[in-house]
Amino acid sequence: MRPALLVRELAGLVGAANVLAEPPAHYLHDATETRGLRGQADAVVLPGTTAEVAAVLAWCYRHDMPVIPRGGGTGYAGGAVPLSGGVLVSLERLSQVRSFEPLLWRCCVEAGVHTAEVRCLARERGLLFPPDPGAAEQSQIGGNIATNAGGPHALKYGVTRAWVLALEVVVPPGDVILLGGPLRKDVAGYDLTGLLAGSEGTLGIVTAAWLRLLPAPEVALPVAAFYRDSRSGCDAIESVLGNGLVVAALEYLDAVALEAAGPALATPVPGGAEFLVLADADGSEREAARLRAEVLDVLGDQALAVYAPTEPRAISDLWRWREGVSIAVTARRGGKASEDIVVPLERLAEAIEETVAIGRRHALEAYSWGHAGDGNLHSTFLVDHRSEDELMRAGRACEEVFDLAERLGGSISGEYGVGWVKRGRVAAHWAPRVLDLHAEIKRAFDPKGLLNPGKKV
Ligand SMILES: Cc1cc2nc3c(=O)[nH]c(=O)nc-3n(C[C@H](O)[C@H](O)[C@H](O)COP(=O)(O)OP(=O)(O)OC[C@H]3O[C@@H](n4cnc5c(N)ncnc54)[C@H](O)[C@@H]3O)c2cc1C
Repeated sequence: MRPALLVRELAGLVGAANVLAEPPAHYLHDATETRGLRGQADAVVLPGTTAEVAAVLAWCYRHDMPVIPRGGGTGYAGGAVPLSGGVLVSLERLSQVRSFEPLLWRCCVEAGVHTAEVRCLARERGLLFPPDPGAAEQSQIGGNIATNAGGPHALKYGVTRAWVLALEVVVPPGDVILLGGPLRKDVAGYDLTGLLAGSEGTLGIVTAAWLRLLPAPEVALPVAAFYRDSRSGCDAIESVLGNGLVVAALEYLDAVALEAAGPALATPVPGGAEFLVLADADGSEREAARLRAEVLDVLGDQALAVYAPTEPRAISDLWRWREGVSIAVTARRGGKASEDIVVPLERLAEAIEETVAIGRRHALEAYSWGHAGDGNLHSTFLVDHRSEDELMRAGRACEEVFDLAERLGGSISGEYGVGWVKRGRVAAHWAPRVLDLHAEIKRAFDPKGLLNPGKKV
C-alpha cells in the first residue's frame, strides 16, 4: 500500500496527530539496541482507547498488514522491534488507572501505565505490587504482562502472571475480549489469562489489566555478602534455601560485574572478593529482623565481609545500585549481548563459570549476574556494537549459552522472553508435539500470522 494512503487510512481511525509516518528513532529499537538491533515500521500509531486499538487491528487484518504491539521498549529480546515493517501500535496513550480499590487489594489499569506508577500507587496505600523488573520507570504494565516479567523479588512473590486477575485484550480480527474479572479465583475455562501472559504480543494486544495487590511488608532489610569465588558464593545461596529462610530476593554478581559496579557501592569491596550475594529479608519489623539475623548467620559463615544497612536511605541506595549494575557493566565497552537463561539452582555455579569460559573461547569479556534464588542468570558478552565482528562472535557465544542451558536441564529464557533474538531456538529444544501445540495456539488466535510476526514461535 502506498505510504500516503496508509497514513490517511490510519489517521481516520486514531486522528492524524496519532499517526507517525516517519517514526522517531526510539520507536524502532528496544534495549537490544546495544547489540545493534534496529527495525523499520511503515507507520507508528498511538491509539488512545481500546476501541481505537480494535479498529487499528481490524484495519490491519483486512489489509494483511503486520502489527507490532509496543510498550515501554525496554525489552531485551527485540520483541517490540518492527523487523519486517508493518504498523507499530504503541500503547503509551492508554495510561489511565481505571479503578483502585485498596481495601479490596486490587486495581484496574490500562496497558500503557508504567510499572513504577502502579508500584507507587499501591505503596501510597500500604500495598505492594511485587513485580519489579529493572526498568520500572520506562516499562509498561502491558509489556510486563506480555513478557511475564520477573525481577529480584520474583523469588518470594512470583512473576507478573501471579498478579494478573483479568485482562482486556484485542484479538484478531479486531475483537475486544475480557478474560476473567476482579475475581481472586476462577477455574471455569482454560487459563487464557495465563496464556496471554508471556505471549510477547503474538496472540493479542493487552489494553487493560486487573491487578492483584498485597499488604506491603513493614520493612525489607538487605544483606550483601562478599565471597572469594563463585563456588563459595553459590554454596552460600544454597544454604539460605536449605536453612528454610524465605528471603524475598536472592541476587548475585560475578567477578566482572563486581569489578565494574563495585566502585559505586556504598561499602568498599574487600580485597580478593570475586562474588557478591544480595538477600532481602522482609516482613513485619519483628519478622524481618529475625530473618535478617538468620541470613547474616548463614551468608556470613564463609563470607569475606558483609554489608547489611538498616537505614532506609542506605537500603534504597543499595537497591538503586543493584538496578544500575547492567548499565555500569555495559559502559565498559558500550554494548553487550545478554541472555537470560535459567537453570536448576544446583547447576548455577556451573552456568556462571561456563559463561566466562564461553566468552574466553570467543575472545569476549564475559560476565553474569542475576536472580540466583531462581537459578536465573544474565549471561553477558561485552561488545563494541559498531564492530560487526564482535557482534557476530557475541551471537555465537549466545548460541553456546542456550546449549549450556539445555545441557544443565534449564531453559533459554527465564524472564526476557524469546522475541526476535532467540527466534528459532525453541525448535531446537522442544519435542515436535510441543512445537505443534504452540503453532496451533498461534493459529487459533492469529490465523493470518500478522501479530508480531517472526517473534516468539
Ligand atoms: C535496565 C533493565 C533491567 C531489566 N530488568 C529486568 C528484570 O529484572 N526482569 C525482567 O523480567 N525484565 C527486565 N528487563 C526487561 C524489560 O524491562 C521487561 O521485559 C519488560 O517487561 C518489558 O516491558 P516494556 O513495556 O518495555 O515492553 P516492550 O519492550 O515494549 O515489549 C516487550 C514485548 O511485549 C510486547 N508488548 C508490549 N506491550 C504489549 C501490549 N500492551 N500487548 C501485547 N503485547 C505487548 C511487545 O510486542 C514485545 O514482544 C530489564 C530491562 C532493562 C532495560
